[in-house]
Amino acid sequence: MKKTQLASCFIALSVLSANQIVRAADPTHSEQPAVAPAEAISKLKEGNDRYTSGNLQHPGQTTERRTELAKGQHPFAIIVSCSDSRVPPEIVFDQGLGDLFICRVAGNVINDESIGSIEYAVDHLGVRLILVLGHQSCGAVQAAKETIATKGKAPGHIESLVTAIKPAVEATAKEDLDATIKANVKHVVQALRSSMPILKGEVHSGELRVIGGYYSLDTGAVTFLDEK
Ligand SMILES: [Zn+2]
Repeated sequence: MKKTQLASCFIALSVLSANQIVRAADPTHSEQPAVAPAEAISKLKEGNDRYTSGNLQHPGQTTERRTELAKGQHPFAIIVSCSDSRVPPEIVFDQGLGDLFICRVAGNVINDESIGSIEYAVDHLGVRLILVLGHQSCGAVQAAKETIATKGKAPGHIESLVTAIKPAVEATAKEDLDATIKANVKHVVQALRSSMPILKGEVHSGELRVIGGYYSLDTGAVTFLDEK
């Protein structure tokens, strides 16, 4: 989407109050029905099964698909995941162009900019599932755990990651790294479910589901932590 189109989308949304938000008609994306959360979860599970079993289909990566998507996007899930090079969502879920709307920050944490991106995908693109995906041996979570344990300070902007991950570190002070990684996922899931003024209402009305997941570097399998 061109910058001017994106700007006009946000302007269109901004004139509506939170409880008046509608799926705006937009000629830049197709009029497809929203993919229900349960169906989106199934598509992710099926794709991950293909990945772990070595039966990748590499869907949606053809010239035809690219051309089709130039008219507009209709992703079926939002993935909030770590920047770690070993956990690229399109590959581990065997998805293609236009399938996943992804926010990647080290430690799969969120900030105002990523929440704004997620709100855009929910409100404007009609996405109804958010998966927060943590992973085995997450360096960001490990760094946060070590920095807080030693009462130190991480260099540069890395400290902002430590601050974001701190609630999970404190909740699992006597537990191992895996426990902190999973607690961090749950913390971000809860933060998104209660995010005002947009996501909380969508979750409450049943339009949107926010769930957590954990990716094993060893097996490639994603375990869904909380599907309610
Ligand atoms: Zn990580």
